[in-house]
Parts: sequence; structure tokens; C-alpha cells
Amino acid sequence: MNIAIVSGKGGTGKTTLATGLAYTINANYIDMDAGEPNGRHFLDPEISKSIDCEVMIPENTDKCTYCGICANKCQFSALAVIEKTKKFMLFDDLCHHCGLCVEVCPVKDAIKEISKSIGKINSGIFNKQKNINFVEGVLKIGETSSVPLLEQIKSNLVKEQLNILDSAPGSACPVVSVIEAADFVVLAGEPTPFGLNDLEIVFELVKAMDKPVGLIINKYMGNDLLHDFSKRENVPILGTIPFDRSIAENYSKSINIAELQSKELKHISENLLKLTGYHYE
Ligand code: SF4
Ligand code: SF4
Repeated sequence: MNIAIVSGKGGTGKTTLATGLAYTINANYIDMDAGEPNGRHFLDPEISKSIDCEVMIPENTDKCTYCGICANKCQFSALAVIEKTKKFMLFDDLCHHCGLCVEVCPVKDAIKEISKSIGKINSGIFNKQKNINFVEGVLKIGETSSVPLLEQIKSNLVKEQLNILDSAPGSACPVVSVIEAADFVVLAGEPTPFGLNDLEIVFELVKAMDKPVGLIINKYMGNDLLHDFSKRENVPILGTIPFDRSIAENYSKSINIAELQSKELKHISENLLKLTGYHYE
């Protein structure tokens, strides 16, 4: 079973909660926030394997006639061809690796695909006694899309195990990719007007993808903002974590929240497992 932890925006405590839950219920922790993976700081994993994630990008050859058909067909404007100056330019940040340009080229062997590494997938264990899996995607600096990396991680998830998927913040393509793999989605919410606004955006996404959902209110300060959201949208509250300066101080020392808020984390975990129907030993 895959449980995704998402948040509308950064700074809501998504990774704090994801690592805390993984630690509490001995679930595999999968860091899918590949642009800035930091779950490792709270789980202290032992990494035993690191593999490259590669994508295919087009490159023309000396057979190219610079007719421009490939560039015209590319749906992402990732190619520009200038016949007059014999220029073939790939804007690889825009390329979605679909291979259409190669398919439509009318000249034999004028274009080929070459591989490019966009990052790494590291894996190992984080609880030495219990051998709990730790996986993280790490996007290379300067790369703009982590989606191919996330797809590669997803293809290796063991559905029979309990996997906590720590998503990127926001509601863009990497978040869609994580929600797609989820059997249950946990919204990590911050009870501020800004937090609510962004939470509602990602909630719309979860609704559109028809996934069961629950809410954890982090940094709870006694206001009703997220309780009202929960009632309005019929989203069950799994639990709350109080606003407490010592949590932030311990975060800066890489101390897992489950060590500080064990009662709250246990309560949230029980509610989560009850809602998902997952049994674990
Ligand atoms: S379609 Fe083929 S021949 Fe034409 S510009 Fe593209 S790679 Fe070159
Ligand atoms: S692989 Fe697809 S997205 Fe990339 S340049 Fe070719 S047609 Fe465009």
C-alpha cells in the first residue's frame, strides 16, 4: 500500500510528518521530493545502492537536411531547426522524451536518441534492527523535471508493503506523479490563510484523481481554519501537532519528530491505519 504525504506549499512540515510516520509504523520511506530530498536527515539511512536515472534526448546526425519537420511536430517546443544556417537546437529542459521527433523524421538515420543522466536513486535501510527500506530520488542540479525519476522509483515499489511517499510541495507534475501511485493521500496542512489556500489547490487535485484522503493539522495554534475546511470538504482529521518552537529547534538538529511527539504520532498512525485498513506487525 502506498500512502502519499502532500502539502499545498513548502514549509508545512510534510517531510517532518512523513519521516515521523515511517519511523512510528515501520513503513518504507520513499523520498519523492527529488528536487530537495531531506528525509535522510531524520532517518539516518545506510545507503547500499545508487543507480543513475537516464532519459533519452534527440540529436541530429550529418544526414539531417534541416527540413524542420521534427521541430514543427514537437508539442513542447523543445526543438528549433533553422534551415538557412543549418542549426538544430534542442532545449532539453523542455523535452519530454516522447521520441516523436525521431518517429516523424523522413530522412533515414538523420536523428537518433542519446541518453542523458538526470539524477540518482539511492536506496538502503533506515532501521537496522527491522530492515526498513529507505529510497530517495535526487535530481541533478539544473535539471527541471523529476517526473522520469519518480516514474522509475514507482516502478520498483512493492505494493504488498507499506510505503510512505514523501511528495514534493505544491501541485505541479511531480505531485501528480506521486498522487497517481497513492492508495491513500494525507494532506499535511498548516492552519494559516496562505496554508489553507495552497492546501485547497492540492486537495482539488486529489479529488480530481479520486483518491481517499485524510488531513493532519501541523503547527496547530487553536484556530478553526483547517477544522472548517475538514467539515466543508468532508476530509477526516487524522490528528494535530501543536505549534511548538522546540519542534523547529529539534528539526534543525535532525531529530525525528516521532521521538518528541510520540503520543501524537501514534494517534495519527492508528487513525491512518484504521482508515486505510492496512494491518502491520
Ligand atoms: S526531421 Fe529529420 S531531417 Fe528534418 S530537421 Fe529534423 S532531424 Fe533533420
Ligand atoms: S523527444 Fe518529444 S519532447 Fe523531446 S524534442 Fe523530441 S518530440 Fe520534442
